[in-house]
This record gives sequence, C-alpha cells and structure tokens, in this order.
Amino acid sequence: MAVPLFDTKIQNNALAPDLQAAFARVLASGQFILGPEVQAFERQCAEHLGVRHALGISSGTDAILLAMMALGIGPGDEVICPSFTFFATAGCVARTGAKPVFCDVRADTFNLYVADAARRITPRTKAMIPVHLYGQAAEMESINALARKHGIKVIEDAAQAVGATHGGRHVGGFGDFGAFSFFPTKNLGAFGDAGLLTTNDDALAERAMLLRNHGAHPKYFHKFVGGNFRLDAVQAALLAVKLPHLQSYSQRRAENAERYTGHFIQLPGAALASAAGTGTRLILPFAQQGNGHTWNQYTLRLPGTGRRDALRAWLTARQIGTEIYYPVPLHAQECFASLGQTAEDLPVSARLAGEALSIPVFPELAQAQQDEVIAAVSDFLMAGK
Ligand SMILES: *Cc1c(COP(=O)(O)O)cnc(C)c1O
Repeated sequence: MAVPLFDTKIQNNALAPDLQAAFARVLASGQFILGPEVQAFERQCAEHLGVRHALGISSGTDAILLAMMALGIGPGDEVICPSFTFFATAGCVARTGAKPVFCDVRADTFNLYVADAARRITPRTKAMIPVHLYGQAAEMESINALARKHGIKVIEDAAQAVGATHGGRHVGGFGDFGAFSFFPTKNLGAFGDAGLLTTNDDALAERAMLLRNHGAHPKYFHKFVGGNFRLDAVQAALLAVKLPHLQSYSQRRAENAERYTGHFIQLPGAALASAAGTGTRLILPFAQQGNGHTWNQYTLRLPGTGRRDALRAWLTARQIGTEIYYPVPLHAQECFASLGQTAEDLPVSARLAGEALSIPVFPELAQAQQDEVIAAVSDFLMAGK
C-alpha cells in the first residue's frame, strides 16, 4: 500500500456538498475579490484566533511582505530571521530592500534560538521574524521581551501554525503582526493560494488594509505605494466551510504524532529531541511545555553522514512519501551568498538541513498506512542503518 506524504482529496471530498454550495453562492453573487465573503471569513478567523484584526491576503508570502511594508521596513534596515525555514520568510525581507540577518535555531525545537538572535541585533535592526516551524510555537515571551528592550518589531511567520497555541493563546497574536498561509497542504488548506494577516494594533491594521489594495483611499487616490495582496471571495467562502473543522484536523495530526512517537521511542538508539545525546540514532520531535503543537509536519532527525538520505531512499522504495523541509538553509542559498553568512556562523541550521526528514502525518492517514511507515522506519533501524 502506497502512503503519500499528504492527501488533500480525502479531506475536501468529505465536505464536497458544503464546498459546492459555497462556490455556487459566490458564482451567483458575481463578486470575486474581497467583499462580504472575505469579510465574513475575516471575522470568523479573528474570533477563532482571538485577535482584533484578521485580513484576508492573497498568500502567506504576501502576508509577510505586507506586514513588512506596513511597518515601513526598507533599505538600510536589518531584519533577523532563522536560517532554517521556508524561503519566503527571508525572501520578503530582501524584497523590501532590507537586509536579512540569519540567526540560528534550537536543535530540539527547530525554532529561533533567542540568545543567538539577541547577539545579532545592531542599531539598524528593525524587526525579527520568528517562525512557528512545523506547527510548534516559537518562544514568544522571550522574543517579545528582547524586541521590546531594543525597540524592534516582531512579525510571526505562522504560515505552518494556524491553530497552534503558546501558553493557551493562539500564535499570530503575540507579535505586531502574524502571517498565516492557507497553501493546500497547510493545516487549513485552500483551493489555490490564500493567506491571512493578523494584528491587535488598530493603526497597523488600517495601514495594512490600505496597502493590500495599492495604498488607495479613497479609490484611485494613493497615499502610499502598496500592491495587490487581496484575497479572492471564492477562497474565503471555501475556507469558511473548512475552518470549523480545523481543530479536529489538528487533533488527528496530534494523535498520529503521538502514535509515531509511542512506537519510535522504543527503537534502539531513539530519543526525544529534548533528551538526545551523542549516541542517539533517531531523534524524535516533541511539543515544548506549554505549546499546543499542530503537527503540520512530523520531522525526524537522523544524525550521521548520509543516514537521512538513506532512510529517505529506504522509505521511497516502500512507496512511502517523505520530504526534506529544508535541504538548504537560507544562509547557503545562492541568492543570499553576498550576505556572507556561513555554516560556521549558523551550525545548527547547517546540521538540521542534513538530518531532517518529514514523514506522513496528515489527518486522514489511515492506521494501516501509519503501521507501514512505523514498520519501515523500525526495519531501517533494526537493520543497523
Ligand atoms: C508556506 C510557508 C510560507 C508561504 O506561504 P504561501 O501561502 O505558500 O505563500 C511562508 N513561511 C513558511 C514557514 C511557510 O511554511
């Protein structure tokens, strides 16, 4: 039996009648950009996430970019973000003309290492972008304390973490802005590109709302240069059907994660990332105390040269889908070579890029499928690999 890394069809097909009704409503309305469907979805999101403002945006990437623009970040500014994340985090910094300054991450949580970010703050530092990677919140109290001390802004890259909590509060409400993605494989997946920008600051919300639509107010009168970062009505209407199910999707992911960990922890040489040592051969992800992890990914670590790639090939041969999030840390990307940051400067990011392997954890993963993944990973380790 093949086990895909994810399968968006099962989840969406289960809601087909409601999705079709929502689509028919938009079709009949003739209004396809912003409008009442988007406003209704925005209210639904703001309530779900416990934030004052939620703006429907064209994508998660655009939500990060718009946050940067609303904060007035540009040439001459520095923005600190982790090197171990998806490209968009730093790509948006560069697009404003500001300089991405990469900091390292913690090996146990894959998230921004606050002490390392702190030592990279300069008088030019304007903002920090913590990423809630794989669905686990970064350490927002210490990040906000550091930001306040130095008068810098915080944009949460919550693209992978819709629904994740930290101390009982939803991510996206801790920083000046939170940016979410509804890319189809995220926990709340759209039917194309879609995103959300959250904030508790009325003035910032207002500014972001104008910039989302070319900085126009009123129509055809432009106070600022913005862009087209608008959400489609059809995405909003369809996402509004799925949002009430988000919690159960994430709950299923968490159950799958727990079941993996319960089996893997018994393998020789396996340990939770919080307890891994020099002899550990399989490092398991864990939820940090106080975090509601939403498991957008279940990411193993295989220390030792070539072992991650060997496990990936082993699983591929058994028709089990995997992915490497992310094989090249951002400081090592060709487009950022001129920044001059090195693996010596970002050792954990460099190491994780060679060790990380994500395995299927999507909500609809059948128990028999999961058993195959568990057996295949176990066989790999038992074979002494
Ligand atoms: C998916 C993702 C984004 C970008 O979201 P899109 O909707 O694909 O533009 C940004 N940051 C991270 C960490 C992501 O995983």
